[in-house]
Amino acid sequence: MNTALIVGLGRSGRSAAQLLARRGWDVIATDAQAADADELVAVGVDVRAPWTDPIDGVDLVVKSPGVPGEIALIAHARAAGVEIISEIELAARYLPNPMIGITGTNGKTTTTELVAHLLGACGHPAIACGNQGLPMTDLVGEVDPETWLVVECSSFQLEDIVRFHPRAAVVLNLSPDHLDRHGSMERYGAAKATLFRNLDASDLAIAPEGFQVPGSARPRTIREGERVSQIDVAWSAGGLHVEGIGNVVSWDAIPLRGRHNRQNVMAAAAIVHELIGATAAQIAEGLRSFAGVPHRLEVVGERDGVTYINDSKATNVDAALAALDAYPDRVRLIAGGSSKGATFAPLAQAARTVVVRAYLIGQTAEEIAAAFEAESVAVVVAMTLERAIDLASQDAVPGDVILLAPACASFDQFANFEDRGDQFRALVARRLGSSSR
Ligand code: ADP
Repeated sequence: MNTALIVGLGRSGRSAAQLLARRGWDVIATDAQAADADELVAVGVDVRAPWTDPIDGVDLVVKSPGVPGEIALIAHARAAGVEIISEIELAARYLPNPMIGITGTNGKTTTTELVAHLLGACGHPAIACGNQGLPMTDLVGEVDPETWLVVECSSFQLEDIVRFHPRAAVVLNLSPDHLDRHGSMERYGAAKATLFRNLDASDLAIAPEGFQVPGSARPRTIREGERVSQIDVAWSAGGLHVEGIGNVVSWDAIPLRGRHNRQNVMAAAAIVHELIGATAAQIAEGLRSFAGVPHRLEVVGERDGVTYINDSKATNVDAALAALDAYPDRVRLIAGGSSKGATFAPLAQAARTVVVRAYLIGQTAEEIAAAFEAESVAVVVAMTLERAIDLASQDAVPGDVILLAPACASFDQFANFEDRGDQFRALVARRLGSSSR
């Protein structure tokens, strides 16, 4: 019998352990932190948590995305020549389904959900999975082999890809997020490029202008502005243009907001046109009926001409810039949280013309305040989300947008970005509810 070591007891690690145990492997599952995993013990998994020591006699390692490649346990396995893979790679080895891989710094979940939605709207069953929350290994043995799997891949998951071979791969964008883990932009870009590694000439590779797609797949370039070549998917004054089917839809006709979402739409439209031959009318209809994804520019309240928007998923400066681009007028910005080491100067510059006042919270409040004040943007250090909402609501006049786009991770004050967004939604609902009485 073969022995597998699962490192990291998050959702995908647990799912991988279940799968391998079901398939007759001896499974050891570790986590650096104490963890309850009764459901794994019940299927015979040897759960060791907390645990950091090297383990011998292992044939395969499945490394969770949150686990650094340098830790002793992984380094020991690598030195012993043991294959180290990600949960996506493991799942792909068991699933015959056609797959689409989506990566990038921002927009992965939105694009993944949008592609699955468009495929479904065109009569092709599709499931969104991967980094967005549904572990791909959960699907093994559970889905019809014809169903498309639209797989959101984080750069950490891509580090341990070996044979994963999607029919189409997308890199949406690259910005300096997670430099703390990847060390340099080059390494970060290289991790993203591994998504293209196994593609061949019958596959589709989508990337923004300037990103060199490695390998022999058919390229498509996402371009904001007029089309300049045969391989472009472009968004210009005339709307969305997909080479091969022409003009598809105008921007005003679809609910998604912001230039960044045009990027996501271009990638999704190109995929469904190329892979299943979707028509312009089908794509336009699918785009019209896409409601968006929670915590991404989600409208959570409106009162007296003031709109409240939850963009808790804006965990980096680039995503917060995208939010300001989508709402370019009279924004009361709620930002701050735990730092990822990035500079806030670009956000401060963009804020100069858009943000009437910033309400800063969390660990980075003072740092962001300094950056904004240097650009003469009005700030108040509110510290908590509740106080920020109260102050912004008191200040707001009709036409204002109160936007939570933190530009930071959430872990200083919240469990995760969902928790932050849920609390924002609840606090806004409470405030709007009570002021109507
Ligand atoms: P990911 O899954 O890659 O984190 P999401 O779709 O969850 O991406 O969006 C993350 C954040 O980035 C949200 O705040 C969203 O509004 C913003 N965003 C979405 N698409 C883009 C894009 N193409 N470029 C920049 N920011 C984007």
